[in-house]
Amino acid sequence: MNTGVHSFWSHFKSSILQKRGNEGFLRPWLDAVISAEIEKQDEQYYCKLQTPSELHKKYIQDNILQDLLDYLAQSLNKPCQVQFEVIPQLPSKIESSIEKPLTKQVSKPSPFNSEYVFENFIVGSGNEFAHGASIATVNNTKEFNPLFIYGPSGLGKTHLLNAIGQKALEINKRSKIIYISAERFLNECVLAIQKREMLQFRKKYRGQCDFLLVDDIQMIAKGEKVQEEFFHTFNDLYNNGSKIVLCCDKSPSSIPGLANRMRTRFEGGLIVDISYPDLETRLAIIKHKADRKKLFLSKETLLKIAQTCQNSVREIEGVLNKIKMMSDLCRGGLSSPQIKSILKDVCPRELKVEDVQKKVAEKFQLSLEEMKSPTRKKHIVTARQTAMYLIKKHFKKSLNDIGILFNKKDHTTVLNSIKKVEKLLVEDPGFKALFEDLNRDIHKYKLKD
Ligand code: ADP
Ligand code: MG
Repeated sequence: MNTGVHSFWSHFKSSILQKRGNEGFLRPWLDAVISAEIEKQDEQYYCKLQTPSELHKKYIQDNILQDLLDYLAQSLNKPCQVQFEVIPQLPSKIESSIEKPLTKQVSKPSPFNSEYVFENFIVGSGNEFAHGASIATVNNTKEFNPLFIYGPSGLGKTHLLNAIGQKALEINKRSKIIYISAERFLNECVLAIQKREMLQFRKKYRGQCDFLLVDDIQMIAKGEKVQEEFFHTFNDLYNNGSKIVLCCDKSPSSIPGLANRMRTRFEGGLIVDISYPDLETRLAIIKHKADRKKLFLSKETLLKIAQTCQNSVREIEGVLNKIKMMSDLCRGGLSSPQIKSILKDVCPRELKVEDVQKKVAEKFQLSLEEMKSPTRKKHIVTARQTAMYLIKKHFKKSLNDIGILFNKKDHTTVLNSIKKVEKLLVEDPGFKALFEDLNRDIHKYKLKD
C-alpha cells in the first residue's frame, strides 16, 4: 500500500536536527529528499526514500541512516527497512554549492527550529511565568539579566529559547544572537584547548552580541576549564549589555559541580521554573499540535491522551506522531483499541511508597537501610523526614501508617518530621532546591498506595 509522503519526515528532520544541535549542514541534505513514504507489506514496514542523486543517497546512508532506523523502530514499535531510489534531478542546490563553494554565496542556515516560535507555544499552568519572562526579555526589558529558565526535560525550555531568538530577529533582523548548547560550547572549548586555538575560540564567543542564548547550561559544570571560559564569556557579554538567557534542567543551586561564582551570576537576574502542565493545558497543547499535523481526533481521544501523557510535552508529541503515522498507514482514523495500544506504551510507571523511600535515600546518597535506621545523624534524619513528608504529600497514608514504614516510629515523630520539612523549605534554599528536584521526579509517576 502506497501511502503518499508522510508527515513523519518533517518530524524526523526536526528531531535529528535538535539532537545534533541544529547542524546547519545537515538540513539541506534532509530537505533535498524528494519523497519519504512508509509502506507495510506482509507485516513488514518499509520506508522508501527518493533522493535526487547517488551522492545524496550515500550521504544519508553514512550520516543519517542509523538515526532514521532508530526513529522508525521506535515510532512503529517494529523494525523498519529503509529502501532508496535515486531519481536524478537537475543539479540540486546542495551539489552546486558543494561544487562551487567559492563562487556561490550560500546564505547561513538559521540555527533555530522554525516550529519553535511563540505562536506555537501554548501558555498555561506550569509555564506562564517562563513564557512571560521570555517575552519581556525579547521586548527589551533589562530589569532581569540573565533570565534563567529551569525545569524537567520535555517541557518547552528549548522551544522558548528558540522563540526568543526568532522573535529578536523578527523585531530587528540585524540582531546578533549567539545560540548554543552548553555541550557544544564545552566540546568546542576542549577542541580549542587541544589545538591551542583558544584565542580564536574566545574571539568567537566574546564579541559584541545582543543575545546570548545557552541551552542545557548544566553541561557547563562538567569541566573546570570550560566553566572558567564560560565565566569570562558571560562577564564580557553581560558587561557589554548583551541579554543572556540560560536554560537548565535544574535550579542553579542544584547543579552538581557548578562553581560558586558561576552560580551567583546565574542567580543574579530572574530565575523561573517550568513545571508540568495541568490537564487543561495538556489538552490545549494536544489540540494545537493535532491541528498542525492535520490530525482529527475525537474529544474522547484528546482527553484520553491528555489524561495519559503526564510526563512531558515531548511524550505528547511522540504519541501524536505515532497516531499520525499509524492513521496514514491505515488511511483513516484509528479505532479506540488502536489508540489504547499506542497509549499503553507511554503509561507512566507506577511508584510505590518504597520507591519514594529509595529515591529519597539515593538523593541523599544513603542506602535505604541507613535512611530507615534510628540514627540521629543530622543528614540521615533530614533524609528520613523528607521521605516521610513526601509520602504524606503523595499517598493517602495516615501518620501511623507512615511511622510503621520507618522502623515503627510513632505518629508524633512523623508529625514533627513534616513540620521540620516545612520549616526547612522556608529557611534553607539549598534544601528547597533538592526537595523540588525530588518532588518533580515523583510527579512523573502514577502513584500506587
Ligand atoms: P525541553 O527543552 O524543556 O526539554 P523542548 O523545548 O525540547 O523541551 O520541548 C519538547 C517538545 O514539546 C517540543 O517539540 C516543543 O515544541 C513541545 N512543547 C513543550 N512545551 C510546549 C508548549 N507549552 N506548547 C507547545 N509545544 C510545547
Ligand atoms: Mg531542551
